Amino acid sequence: MEICTVGGFEEVGKNMTAVKVGEDVFIFDMGLYIPGIVELQEEQLLTYAPRSKSYKKFEERKNPNKNKNFNQEKNFQGNQQVQYTEESLREFEAIPEDRVLDKLGWRDKVRAIFIGHAHLDHVGGVPFLIKRYPKVPIFATPFTMKVLETITEDERISINNPKRIVKSNSSCNIRGKSQTYKVDFIHTTHSTIDCVFIALHTPEGIFFYGLDLKFDNYPTMGQPPNYKKLKEIGKKNVKVLIMDALYSGTEKKPGSETIARHLVEEALGKVRYSKDAIFITTFSSHIERLNSIVDFGKKTKREIVFLGRSLYKYVNAAIQVKKCPFKSNIKLLRYRKQVESFLRRLEKNRSRYLVVCTGHQAEENSILDRIVKGDTPFRFREGDNLIFASSIIPAPVNIVSREKMENKLKRIGVRLQRDVHVHGHGSREDMRELIRLLKPKHIIPAHGTFQQEAPLIETASEFGYNLGETAHLTNNGKVLKF
Ligand SMILES: [Zn+2]
Repeated sequence: MEICTVGGFEEVGKNMTAVKVGEDVFIFDMGLYIPGIVELQEEQLLTYAPRSKSYKKFEERKNPNKNKNFNQEKNFQGNQQVQYTEESLREFEAIPEDRVLDKLGWRDKVRAIFIGHAHLDHVGGVPFLIKRYPKVPIFATPFTMKVLETITEDERISINNPKRIVKSNSSCNIRGKSQTYKVDFIHTTHSTIDCVFIALHTPEGIFFYGLDLKFDNYPTMGQPPNYKKLKEIGKKNVKVLIMDALYSGTEKKPGSETIARHLVEEALGKVRYSKDAIFITTFSSHIERLNSIVDFGKKTKREIVFLGRSLYKYVNAAIQVKKCPFKSNIKLLRYRKQVESFLRRLEKNRSRYLVVCTGHQAEENSILDRIVKGDTPFRFREGDNLIFASSIIPAPVNIVSREKMENKLKRIGVRLQRDVHVHGHGSREDMRELIRLLKPKHIIPAHGTFQQEAPLIETASEFGYNLGETAHLTNNGKVLKF
């Protein structure tokens, strides 16, 4: 078994791993990475990225003579731009450097592409790379596939590859050149819905793809992880385990989403009888969190309105796969015109609505950013409420922008509630649990920088793993042979 750690092994983002067994290659995830937006759990990054300042600088460097006022969005979405965008993203190091597979002679041997969940650092690279893998089927759960379709439709990119929708806790067989492989999709919990671990059964043992990892025994939607199946797989010779090591240095368990639900209840309880505006902002892909927001939002007796394109993308995908329990309790506004006219109504009648919107990282051009900058018909005023059902993703750009945003809001007199949140990646104890369950021969930490991945080696050593022998720290584009 040979494993090429294509992307996500030096950063948080653009996850991609390729596994070669005999004459067959399998790809796990094709993510996106925009520097400065570490977790990439947010929404409009795909559209946000090309408009960001660093991207614009990059554009100017590349095309100094180009009209600087050209309509970026129009260009980005135009047919001609698709090709150009892929190249730019590659140069910008925003997509995995999968040309390593050409050098290895692996690209023609790819039999399947598996996507573990709907976050953009796992699925967001597919639209830009997929044409290099013609006819190769893409496997994903219903929600993940729907999100992929939404992104591609939005960016006017067409994918002709066969799409195989797989349910979590199901298995399928994939034909290789001279043998058939069984693949298990094992339900797990994280910070979006329909997440799976993937186990590839090969004659040499099982390759187990454990991204992203958080063991939540009390999720507020759906089931806890499928421990029974994990235990069963652990008895069958797991050769290699790739695991999410992002918070492997953290002892404290992140806490269940049930805790976040209580935090949301408390935060909304505090503002329940307010006569002023109430805004709450969170990750667009976090359907469970949004569900809690709507449940407790209803108690305010206000009309609940979701604003913006990215919330529309994820919530609409959840509605289409019948995984949106709150769909009849919200109004979902997508287009700028709709949003503007709603904000005009809100300005006149601020106690009538509860607004759910994006922009918790103070991302440029997000609804919150535009409101705070005074670019919309609605203006915050003293006594209005804003709840951040998120934490600040610790990248300098976010820290600085959020601080600026908060300072402005505080000067106006807006009441802020911050960190109404638990995060979606497991800590050291979750790693121990997965190792105990699967008993892999080899462990490869993923989903982070060297500093984020290294503590997992220390944890693995408790179980007798040795660095360089059975536990492996690696880089993007490297090949490990087992
Ligand atoms: Zn994720």
